[in-house]
Amino acid sequence: MDNKERMQLPYQEMPELPVTQRLAGPVEVNRGYSEQQALAEAERCLQCKNAPCVAGCPVDIDIPAFIKLIREKRYTQAGLKIKETNSFPAICGRVCPQEQQCQEKCVVGRAGHEPVGIGHLERFVGDHLIAHSQKPSRAKPTGHKVAVVGSGPAGLTCAGELAKLGHQVTIFEALHEPGGVMIYGIPEFRLPNDIVRHEIKSLVDLGVQISHDTVVGRTVTMDEIRGEMGFEAVFLGLGAGSPRFLNIDGENLRGIYSANEYLTRVNLLQAYRDDYDTPIRRGQYVTVIGGGNVTVDAARWALRLGAQTVTIVYRRSRQQMPARIEEVRHAEEEGIQFQFLTQPIKFIGEDGDVVGMECIRMELGEPDASGRPRPVPMADSEFTIDTDLVVIAIGARVSPLVPIAVPGIELDESGHVIVNPETLESSVPGIFAGGDLIPGEETVVRGMGNGRQAAQSIHQYLIGRD
Ligand SMILES: Cc1cc2nc3c(=O)[nH]c(=O)nc-3n(C[C@H](O)[C@H](O)[C@H](O)COP(=O)(O)OP(=O)(O)OC[C@H]3O[C@@H](n4cnc5c(N)ncnc54)[C@H](O)[C@@H]3O)c2cc1C
Repeated sequence: MDNKERMQLPYQEMPELPVTQRLAGPVEVNRGYSEQQALAEAERCLQCKNAPCVAGCPVDIDIPAFIKLIREKRYTQAGLKIKETNSFPAICGRVCPQEQQCQEKCVVGRAGHEPVGIGHLERFVGDHLIAHSQKPSRAKPTGHKVAVVGSGPAGLTCAGELAKLGHQVTIFEALHEPGGVMIYGIPEFRLPNDIVRHEIKSLVDLGVQISHDTVVGRTVTMDEIRGEMGFEAVFLGLGAGSPRFLNIDGENLRGIYSANEYLTRVNLLQAYRDDYDTPIRRGQYVTVIGGGNVTVDAARWALRLGAQTVTIVYRRSRQQMPARIEEVRHAEEEGIQFQFLTQPIKFIGEDGDVVGMECIRMELGEPDASGRPRPVPMADSEFTIDTDLVVIAIGARVSPLVPIAVPGIELDESGHVIVNPETLESSVPGIFAGGDLIPGEETVVRGMGNGRQAAQSIHQYLIGRD
């Protein structure tokens, strides 16, 4: 088949749960390709020699090579090919913003067709690896001990790579369950917890130890970790889990949550289940403020918790929404409404509960530092939205605990840890960092890439000590 014919092959749509069945609970919406679909989609790849898709991947997965292996029905080898640079394909295949990364650069897409479904194919082989996984064999111990703080994608990847090299790794995690945002933030209707738990179990099988309920900087200090506990190097993967607020009147009213708290209550503490005690407000007229994945996740959860209407209020237009396109489409299908170019200016309360939100209309002006058009308030455009539950999802920042947990560590003005870009070592020798804790785009795949890069640097650091 020549390239022209390949481009005419039909794109394989991801099978999805019908809208009518979605709102009963956190069932995954995307159902995954069948083998037949995966083979058909793999045929659409042109196997470009210069592979622009690889340049679009933050961890340089050899995309044409793994798709070729799918065509040959060598699914395990396809998964292992991805695992050369990305430890968790079943996770990335579900949550990476492929439309802005590999698929954005796909030549088929650039020729006016639907780009090859690289993410869907990645998920297919990731799930195949999980279904056919075997207990990994442990490496010969080196005698070196490394501490990993935080068990999000960055910490887990770093821990796994170090364990494969034979180092003794302990992860210190503040929460009672490891997985970071993948467990407490991203809902199960996008990323089932069992997928994350499977990957964590494979690390435990490799010999990684996990110390739950351990807040570094509170429960245990860095001096203890590096002193009496005997860890020679440390990787910091604490993420950026502190919420940002709007700082407007009425923000302390009952019924206003940060997205962090709302999602943690629902996802991690299972507030949606009747047999759980976790308290959560179930609003009827819910408003979620923001425009990213977190916003859309919170809005879709509110619907599943029984809201009559859910409205996303975003100060820019739809084109600037940072959320994944697929998630926005799913939200629209499920009935979520949008108020674009709208900024809340004040919350209205009654007897201490939120009952409304005063807003102002915005228009787009000159680009700001992010390169996106700056939203500018329009004169005399105030209006009110009635609401009995508000979720604020306007981004997060690094925890103020970081300089307490790691005394003397250098931070930039936004609180991110400054690292050497080559090694990811911080200003404190032997302490490395990655993921949302360091400056840069905040995605699962980038966290994983940082974890892998830091593991290599830590390995070199430990060998240097030998
Ligand atoms: C709701 C939501 C949806 C998202 N959707 C997507 C998506 O679709 N695609 C995508 O690519 N990205 C998405 N992201 C962003 C992505 O999840 C993050 O970029 C990524 O998880 C960062 O990984 P990390 O390892 O740096 O930190 P995290 O995942 O934040 O994990 C950090 C861990 O460190 C622990 N910790 C913190 N402080 C301490 C301490 N002092 N001691 C011990 N442990 C500590 C925390 O409890 C946590 O478990 C989403 C984020 C959120 C919140």
